Amino acid sequence: MSTSDAVTDTVRAQSEASSPMVKPIPGLEAHQLTKRFDSRGEQTVALQDVDLTIAQGAFVSIIGPSGCGKSTMLRIFADLMAPTDGVAMVKGRTPHQARRDREFAMVFQSPNLLPWKSVLRNVTLPLQIMKLPKEEREARAREMLALVGLDGFESRLPHQLSGGMQQRVAIARALSMHPGVLFMDEPFGALDEITRDRLNLELMDIWQRLSPTVLFITHSIGEAVYLSTQVVVMSPRPGRITATIDIDLPYPRTASVRDQPRFYELVGEVRAALNDGQGRA
Ligand code: ADP
Repeated sequence: MSTSDAVTDTVRAQSEASSPMVKPIPGLEAHQLTKRFDSRGEQTVALQDVDLTIAQGAFVSIIGPSGCGKSTMLRIFADLMAPTDGVAMVKGRTPHQARRDREFAMVFQSPNLLPWKSVLRNVTLPLQIMKLPKEEREARAREMLALVGLDGFESRLPHQLSGGMQQRVAIARALSMHPGVLFMDEPFGALDEITRDRLNLELMDIWQRLSPTVLFITHSIGEAVYLSTQVVVMSPRPGRITATIDIDLPYPRTASVRDQPRFYELVGEVRAALNDGQGRA
């Protein structure tokens, strides 16, 4: 199936699922999500009454200045912390259930690879923990490493790879779990611009093939616009959503999409929304 067919099928499935007869289960939902931190008598309202619905198969970027609650929101969805108030759901389940059911995987800014294990073993390790048979975990790992362009590097150690390659291993490790939802917290934030642009293209290609729901945190407006079906803009103190911008760039999204006038218009819209919310990415 071609990339554009796969994307069209996903969109069709979503619109069929949204017929009045069948209520679609969103990939992610937040209702009145609030998180307050108390430290040494000082209270920080990291999130205040956040409502968000993300369709299954969507790619949503969250952008906003440091401290506006982006990571806090992602950590609540990923069952790494509990909200003070409100509800977060992952494919219709609580984050805890979703974690138990292995519905999601995460990629962070740092690849977090085990330095003494080969690339292949780093990818197969979570699958071993999931108790998958050896043959299946190796097959999945090899398939995903090939998808991120690392076939031939399976027996290398992490220190023998560049930063961009290490981050590709982290992405392959997450994808090999076949997650319905992928949480990505500034995954390319530590990379140089050229590597980042290349990984953006690769991630777009992977998403168009596999269609997971993606929640992606970034400080880069261009990255957010290029990758996303929707960009959510947040402002700090208290952290809340100030704008949601649909990204109507065509598929398949190849590198040339970034040269289109519409790309620059959308970058301008996101920048204006950030400035309106008094945030600078
Ligand atoms: P972002 O990801 O947008 O940079 P965070 O979600 O990391 O923002 O943080 C939002 C706010 O919550 C910040 O003011 C931060 O200092 C505060 N915060 C985050 N985690 C904690 C914590 N564990 N204890 C106290 N304050 C925290």
